[in-house]
This record gives sequence, C-alpha cells and structure tokens, in this order.
Amino acid sequence: MTVDLSAYAAEHGIRYFMISYTDLFGGQRAKLVPAQAIGDMQKDGAGFAGFATWLDLTPAHPDLFAVPDATSVIRLPWKRDVAWVAADCVMEDKPVEQAPRVVLKRLVAEAAAEGLRVKTGVEPEFFLVTPDGARISDDYDAAEKPCYDQQALMRRYDVIAEICDAMLELGWKPYQNDHEDANGQFEMNWEYDDALATADKHSFFKFMAKSIAEKHGLRATFMPKPFKGLTGNGCHCHISVWNTDGTHNAFADKSMPFALSEQGRHFLGGIMSHASALAAITNPTVNSYKRINAPRTISGATWAPNSVTWTGNNRTHMVRVPGPGRFELRLPDGAVNPYLLQAIVIAAGLDGIRRRADPGPHRDIDMYREGHTITDAPRLPLNLLDALREYEKDEDLRAAMGSDFSSAFLTLKKREWDTHCSQFTAWEHETTLDV
Ligand code: ADP
Ligand code: MG
Ligand code: MG
Ligand code: MG
Ligand code: MG
Repeated sequence: MTVDLSAYAAEHGIRYFMISYTDLFGGQRAKLVPAQAIGDMQKDGAGFAGFATWLDLTPAHPDLFAVPDATSVIRLPWKRDVAWVAADCVMEDKPVEQAPRVVLKRLVAEAAAEGLRVKTGVEPEFFLVTPDGARISDDYDAAEKPCYDQQALMRRYDVIAEICDAMLELGWKPYQNDHEDANGQFEMNWEYDDALATADKHSFFKFMAKSIAEKHGLRATFMPKPFKGLTGNGCHCHISVWNTDGTHNAFADKSMPFALSEQGRHFLGGIMSHASALAAITNPTVNSYKRINAPRTISGATWAPNSVTWTGNNRTHMVRVPGPGRFELRLPDGAVNPYLLQAIVIAAGLDGIRRRADPGPHRDIDMYREGHTITDAPRLPLNLLDALREYEKDEDLRAAMGSDFSSAFLTLKKREWDTHCSQFTAWEHETTLDV
C-alpha cells in the first residue's frame, strides 16, 4: 500500500504532519511539517541533528533524516488538522542501524525470510496523576484492592472514553478498559496485530494517552513503579507466530500441552534462555527493577515476575500461556521502547526456533507464595546494571539485535547507570550519617 501524503492532506484537511521517530530511550522526536511541504519531505525525510537525541551519535555526524513510512499515518483524533507519521532514520542514504524502528524492521524481515509472521498485542498500563506528577489525581481512589473499581473508573470516564473513542475511530478494535490493581492505574486493550503495526500503535497510544490526559488537566505516566507500595506499570506482550499470509497460527496445536505447538515451544525456549539479558531491553530504567522483584504491594500482589519461569493460566510467572496458540510475556514494563520490545521478542524467539530451544519445565505453583521452592530457575536481574551485564554477556542476542544497536544501547545505558550512582539520596544520608 502506498500513501501519497500530499493527497492524504488534501483529502482529510490536514494542515500539519508530525514526522516522528523514536530514539533509544523511547523518546518520540518530531518535526511539525506544513502540508504544503510534505511532498519533498516524504521522499527525502525531515532533517535532525542526531546527537541532540538518544542515538549515540556525535555533534560531528552528518544530518539524520527521518523518512516517513506513509503507511503508518494517523490523523490525531484530538486535533484533527494534524497527522502523525512514524519515520525511519537514514544518514547519507543508509539506514541508521541503531534506530529502534530500523532494528525492528530488520528482524521482521528476518522472520519473514523464514516464513514467519509475528503477531503481538501489548497492554501498556498507566497512572493518571496530578500535573506535577507528585500523586494520583483522584483522592477518593484509595481502596486497598482498587482493581476493576467501578466508581473510580467512572470518575475518569471523560479521559478513558475519549481515548477509547479515538481507538474505535482508528479501527484498532479496542475491546475493554478497566481500573487496574493500583490506585490511579488504568489499562485499555485493543486487538493484536503484526509486530511493526503493534509497535507503531503502542508508540501512538502513549502519545495519545498523554495528550488526552493533559487536555483534561491530568498527566498519564507509564513509569514502571511510580509509587512505592503500589502495583507498577507493566506492559505485557502476547505473542503468536503465523504463516506469511496470516491464515494459520503456527503456535496453535491442540494435541500439545497448553495447545502450544512445537515451534511455539522453541520460540518460548528462546525467550526463556535469553530472559536475563533481554530484561535490559524490556526493563530499561533504574526504576524498572523496583517493579520486578518487588515486595508485596498493598493490594496483595505485585503481578510482576521475579524469576525466569513459565506456566499455564497463572499470572505469578514471567510467562503465562493463557490460551491456545499464544503466550504472554509479563516481564516488560511501561518504560519499554515499543520498537525494541517487539525486536527483542523476535530476536530471542527466532534464535530459539533455530536452536530448537527447550523452554524447560512448566511450574504450576503460586510463585509469590511458593517461589522459594524453585531453586534451579534463574532470578531476574536485581538492577539495571545486572541486566546490562547480562545483555553484554549474551553474544547471540547482541548479534541478533545488531552490533551497532547493541553497542550504542550499552554505551548510553551504562552512562545512565553511572549518572544514577552519582546521585546522593536522602536515604543514604539518614542511614549513614551516624556511622
Ligand atoms: P490479560 O490482561 O488477560 O493478559 P488482555 O485482554 O488485557 O489480557 O490483553 C490481551 C492482549 O493479547 C490483547 O492485545 C489481545 O489482542 C492479544 N492477543 C489475543 N490473542 C492473541 C494472539 N493470538 N496473538 C497475539 N496477541 C493476542
Ligand atoms: Mg536549525
Ligand atoms: Mg490486561
Ligand atoms: Mg494489567
Ligand atoms: Mg496481561
């Protein structure tokens, strides 16, 4: 499908296009381009100084061009004369190999070369907080078990319904919205799609939720663990793999345990064997490690994993097989880069298929109560540095994600860890002053 953006502007009354790319930290960077100028920009891209964003470039690098992928264009439902379009980063006519959307497209193509089409759905949880981010925005939303709280959900009806109406209009097939397990926390679900389409929708969803919340005088945050003691923001990913024309789910096999095919087991085996390393991507911030491995929350459970284990329909494990022909990776959090999430799932899964990896035994226990009885499953990394070291050690995964990407990612994230370590906290003052 080719889309001529000038014609699109004329047809839909678009005055401005946002040409948007995503950097390594998940930041969405855009130029606002008047419709009159979109013709050339569609061909050549919009120019950026790459160093000014998180891509591990220097100020001396040539211009980076964000070339719109016109098929991804979306008219903003809350600002109808503007359209957003995802772009791919190019420098001197070559793809910028570490740019997240470029990484994902390469892995989607690798999967396609093996006759595989990865389809995924994501569940990006978020909190609605006060504009300064200090606390949840609804003082009455204080129940000990606030999940599915009907009254609290309806107090945020104007925001939630506006976002859901937008998804309906965009044809994403949203099917449910709820209050989640933490006070002030919500989740909105729409139908799964091809990995690249899901990544674009996931990016746009974050932009949309933040924009519509702001319009209502609130702030939407996807921060992994914004409040101590409350359940954090997960971003579970449901995964299935189909044949190229999308007519047959290759993960579904009723004759197998959990109705998960041999190929599905190997894909899962890849996720399991690379889990500690891929956490660097799925849980990419210092704060991420306060969500996984966390103590019990006020509601009674964190709903986040602590070890590399899988099971059937049981939400206390890193991977759950909720029904035939798919599994759910519960590790990723709200800070995950939408493109890198899909890329790392495909990279680990393809490696698993190629090696015919075994996911190991399924553990059908309550991990929160009985997890200590499993001594042979690796614990997930305890902090960002552990995860980065695991990623660095995992040569196969590093290579599958691309060596340019992996080295840029590790450079920037190690720097972030160093910045974190140079912070002086109130806690250390309190506990160390009198030594
Ligand atoms: P839960 O909270 O029980 O984990 P949700 O309904 O919130 O589940 O989210 C499920 C996600 O999984 C949705 O995005 C849905 O479209 C997606 N999904 C359902 N079936 C498949 C499948 N075969 N492959 C990939 N994703 C799927
Ligand atoms: Mg300038
Ligand atoms: Mg859900
Ligand atoms: Mg949830
Ligand atoms: Mg889930």
